[in-house]
Amino acid sequence: MTGSLVIVGTGPGKPELMTPATRAALAQATDLVGYGPYLDRVIPMRDGQVRHASDNRVELDRARHALALAASGRTVAVVSGGDPGVFAMAAAVFEAVEAGDPAWQELDIRVEPGVTAMLAAAAEVGAPLGGDFCAISLSDNLKSWATIERRLTAAAEADFVIALYNPASKARPHQLGEAFALLRQAKGPETLVLLVRAAGTGEARVLSTTLGQVDATQADMRTLVIVGASTTRRVGRWVYTPRGIRP
Ligand code: SAH
Repeated sequence: MTGSLVIVGTGPGKPELMTPATRAALAQATDLVGYGPYLDRVIPMRDGQVRHASDNRVELDRARHALALAASGRTVAVVSGGDPGVFAMAAAVFEAVEAGDPAWQELDIRVEPGVTAMLAAAAEVGAPLGGDFCAISLSDNLKSWATIERRLTAAAEADFVIALYNPASKARPHQLGEAFALLRQAKGPETLVLLVRAAGTGEARVLSTTLGQVDATQADMRTLVIVGASTTRRVGRWVYTPRGIRP
């Protein structure tokens, strides 16, 4: 019996934004591995399918568990929201492969992409990612705050549009405010900022403001923050970034 492991992205929330490839992989799996409450919310229970729910902080354990199941012959789907390669489980799986049993490198492992939060958030407001952009996670679980500050400074200096993932949590209430202060200093108070909550779920809430006005406490764990480039602008009720400088 040969097992397999697929790491799927379920998209931002709306069922229509889950790809058919992810849907098929979920239907074929004998075992689903993922964050418990999340699994229950996005995937209907199916007979005979085993769910291995775990909490959110033990990604590497979860990855090892999924690999061991696949090595034992199971058809395993590891489930991530959005895209599994963006600040999510796919990298954790490959990290576990690198550090684990060499036989794991022979396993049938593949990744199914999904619509990541920043794309769903951008679509809610127009086209703010129309020019060059970058994505930064504000979570300092896996990297230092000094590293995050260095990257924010560099992104501001290069005038990228910046998508901020993991902007806030109960454990880190002050960091988004510090990030905004740093960016305000570097980019000026008129720079547009979008706080998009629950993007691509059908219940999105958009707050469109500026670095001079933004209130960091308005963002939570389900918010994606987009900080505009110098060219990012409003037109009617939309926000967009031109693709280049027009003559
Ligand atoms: N793999 C995911 C990201 C995981 S990091 C993806 O590709 O989207 C978790 C962060 O993603 C959250 O803190 C939030 O900033 C963002 N996020 C995830 N889903 C979101 C949604 N529907 N709306 C807005 N932000 C979301």
